[in-house]
Amino acid sequence: MFKIIKEGVGTLARCTSISTKHGIIDTPEFMPVGTQATVKSITPKMLKEIGTQIILANTYHLYLKPGSKVIRKAGGLHKFCGWDGPILTDSGGFQIFSLKATKISENGAYFPSIFNGSSHFITPEDSIRIQEELGSDIMMVLDICPAGTGSYLHVADAVDTTTKWAKRCKTSKKNDNLLFGIIQGGIYEDLRLRSTEMICEIDFDGFAIGGLSVGENKADFHRIMSYTAQLLPRDKPHYLMGVGKPSDIVESVNMGIDLFDCVMPTRNARNGQLFTKHGTVSIKNSQFIENFNPIENSCNCYCCKNFTLSYLNHLYHTHELLYYTLATIHNLQYMHNLMMTIRKAIKNDNFYEFRRLFYRKIDQVPSEIYGLKYLDIQ
Ligand SMILES: [Zn+2]
Repeated sequence: MFKIIKEGVGTLARCTSISTKHGIIDTPEFMPVGTQATVKSITPKMLKEIGTQIILANTYHLYLKPGSKVIRKAGGLHKFCGWDGPILTDSGGFQIFSLKATKISENGAYFPSIFNGSSHFITPEDSIRIQEELGSDIMMVLDICPAGTGSYLHVADAVDTTTKWAKRCKTSKKNDNLLFGIIQGGIYEDLRLRSTEMICEIDFDGFAIGGLSVGENKADFHRIMSYTAQLLPRDKPHYLMGVGKPSDIVESVNMGIDLFDCVMPTRNARNGQLFTKHGTVSIKNSQFIENFNPIENSCNCYCCKNFTLSYLNHLYHTHELLYYTLATIHNLQYMHNLMMTIRKAIKNDNFYEFRRLFYRKIDQVPSEIYGLKYLDIQ
């Protein structure tokens, strides 16, 4: 199910392929997030046109609404939402443990619904059963994800419970879809090492680094990402959870990460922030009122081929629904093109050079292109 296609030169970056029941994923790849079984404002057909290989859906939300039993009766998540490619589901852990009212017991977690406040209890076995009912191609173990500022003792506790729960998840799995383990350990290297050793011993189909991009500072992010990525077994897929900022992706690919997900490209699109090769621009700006160029001349997306910055600025300010669709298409196309360029660079043995140019470009942002100051998103 996992093949290394090409290893980079002078880098840990690699091109791999992951086989699932709904298709093969070429990595490094970014997964758009479809929290409620939909990537907000665009259709599965549009995702296919962009070139998206795999989407992520959130178990926490789908368990609460419409419920995994409804989705199972509908024929599974793929049929329910009209996406026939691979789907990765998270375990619900990240959402559950980010809620203040959640209480952890040895056996599982008590948590409230974000929809109506009702109380729920989930065990590691429940999480796997729900993900199996959804028909997920890549399932994740139920883990405890402490905040990036969590104390050593608190994080150590989370590492131990995460390991116990990971074993229970593996044991309770009934189908032959893929199951990934999750490494925790916060910003503490010894805890990351302990977590990696214990989780890798359980032998999952792939390994994820969790608990990063959750409030720690940038230096800690890079230190822990690089440290942990190098500990992962090379013969399994590596997934960095919740990370999608282009500059973080390029650096993480360099350390051997294969899969990424984040709401940022789609959420930022809806908030008026559009990605370009030179940084992010805000479509709200009045300087776009009479700019009849596309977001980017070189972009091959449906939005850039057919619409201007002026029109997008108008749609944004008049709260037209089409704005959300067009902006999302563009930002996801940007992510897709970035990942394609990364894969090509690795295959051509010039990822090292690509990375050097990528950072030089965003360090020297030509802010005069649009006569604007770029936001600090890259
Ligand atoms: Zn575009």
